[in-house]
Amino acid sequence: MSTTLITNITSLVTNDPERGDGPLGLVEDAAVVLEGDRIAWVGQAKDAPEADHLHDAEHRSAIPGFVDSHSHLVFGGDRTQEFNARMSGRSYSAGGIRTTVAATRAASDEALEANLLRYLREAARQGTTTFETKSGYGLTVEDEARALRIASRHTDEVTYLGAHIVSPDYADDPAGYVDLVTGAMLDACAPHARWVDVFCEKGAFDGDQARAILTAGAAKGLLPRVHANQLSYGPGVQLAVELDAASADHCTHLTDADVDALAQGHTVATLLPGAEFSTRAEWPDARRILDAGATVALSTDCNPGSSFTSSMPFCIALAVRDMGMTPDEAIWAATAGGAQALRRTDVGRVVPGARADLALLDAPSHVHLAYRPGVPLVREVWQKGVLLG
Ligand SMILES: [Zn+2]
Repeated sequence: MSTTLITNITSLVTNDPERGDGPLGLVEDAAVVLEGDRIAWVGQAKDAPEADHLHDAEHRSAIPGFVDSHSHLVFGGDRTQEFNARMSGRSYSAGGIRTTVAATRAASDEALEANLLRYLREAARQGTTTFETKSGYGLTVEDEARALRIASRHTDEVTYLGAHIVSPDYADDPAGYVDLVTGAMLDACAPHARWVDVFCEKGAFDGDQARAILTAGAAKGLLPRVHANQLSYGPGVQLAVELDAASADHCTHLTDADVDALAQGHTVATLLPGAEFSTRAEWPDARRILDAGATVALSTDCNPGSSFTSSMPFCIALAVRDMGMTPDEAIWAATAGGAQALRRTDVGRVVPGARADLALLDAPSHVHLAYRPGVPLVREVWQKGVLLG
């Protein structure tokens, strides 16, 4: 297997405190050796071993590739008009998803896959090397299963979200829809997914329904994660912790008991500031969650309705500017935090044995991702040891 030495890295975020300064394990004047799709060596450039190929980082900084642990990328159509209307004064409600459901059902497999690939490439150009994505715009047995089949060709982190909203076909029979989601739809979807998720929110699924859906998914081998406490206070976060979900996503409206539960459990609080930005909603309070001792991840929630951004750097800038995170905390949350929200140890860190995923920045340090918002600083992306072109 051939090796590549990437050297002349001004400052490298490893997320390994044993390897460098602070929680980010920052190494100055660093180098990394890649071997195949793995990292073989990390340290100071002056100590670097020889390799088959030499790649000069030209004094750029480097970070682990972003781990975007929450997106909704299997969809048809877009929601330009809804966004335009909302920004002109109308409030957001969960019902807008129905527009995308209709467009997704009408789309061919080829169109859905081409759309997914378009946004994956867009995210990769901005430094994302691991991503999760979900179903949730089909809401029939076949449409949910095909969304997961398509997604699973492009990532291992596939989530069954038949419980995104109650299908319009079951508007008068929500209990019947929960039976479908926990029955025939689950049977068709489980083979293509790793995770089961539910939108636990007023107007979507209540705590009892969410528990039934997550428990049924777990019985089929799917691991739980929850859309929790986005639009209002509710049972989602505490249910997520109780079921040892990998992540409670959104966490915008939290009681003290919710924060305590997150601090005591193993469930990551995944914050999705693109959603609050795009709906002019109240920001999640990252500072409060971090100060309580809970783990925070940052993710895009990329979807055509409430957060149509694939940019992790944009989410980092928002988290620092408006959610009380330090630049270091935000970088960690967007890399190692995302990995923890997916229960992965092989991504989100630059350490020997980890996947060879790196983003090189046209900046002297990772802090510039928050300091220079909206500027395309990601210059090079290495994914599984390959420099993306
Ligand atoms: Zn979501």
